[in-house]
Amino acid sequence: MFIALSMSVDAYSQFDFKKALGGASKAVQAITLTDGQVRNYVKEYIDTMDLQNKVCADTSAYAIRLKKLTQGLDEVDGIPLNFKVYEVTDVNAFACADGSVRVFSALMDIMTDDELLGVIGHEIGHVALRHSRNSFKTALLTSALKDGLASNGGAMAKLTESQIGKVTESLINSRYSRKQETEADDYGYAFLKQKGKNPWAMSLSFRKLKSLQEDAGANNINIINQLFSTHPNLDSRIKRMERQAKSDGFEMPKQ
Ligand SMILES: [Zn+2]
Repeated sequence: MFIALSMSVDAYSQFDFKKALGGASKAVQAITLTDGQVRNYVKEYIDTMDLQNKVCADTSAYAIRLKKLTQGLDEVDGIPLNFKVYEVTDVNAFACADGSVRVFSALMDIMTDDELLGVIGHEIGHVALRHSRNSFKTALLTSALKDGLASNGGAMAKLTESQIGKVTESLINSRYSRKQETEADDYGYAFLKQKGKNPWAMSLSFRKLKSLQEDAGANNINIINQLFSTHPNLDSRIKRMERQAKSDGFEMPKQ
């Protein structure tokens, strides 16, 4: 799974990431962004996402359910975590480098608590391993800030709506490597275990994705592509995570 997808994918399907990257390569070499600057942009980005999407009220059934299942997941590797539900029809979830985790209501509709926890654990793995920060930084440098930063020598500027859109385009088109995905699985497993959750969640969420994949309606294919398109083979991920849970002595929770 990758980051941010709160806007319609179709609107961005024509975006050519490779071309953008090629065009930006010169500018990228010339630009440096400090960690603090990247943090500010991430904050601005997630604040905008939260404004553009319908965030479920704390009293809604979705928010109450998410709060309950993420209880105790307060921080990861020094990064404080916060969770919100977007009430939207897209099936997705994403985590931002600042520890903001956003789960879409449509995903909650089709997943059990354990399955959701597996997805969340994996996403948090990308945050902890700084995959999220690095891909966000790349998205900034290759799209939104490409011209602006090159011309003003790197001064911070508030992102415009169109720049936010460009960052989202880049994030949608960027992919983590297989190695990063495997690392995020391992991190998610260890994280859930450390926080007192049953790490069977990891393999259960992959099982659900596999069953969605097999039930190959166009809609489901879309879900798979969005959530886990370039990830390692689901069967091997299920096996790896199951083997680990069994060897750690965990019982598989009833679904
Ligand atoms: Zn992933």
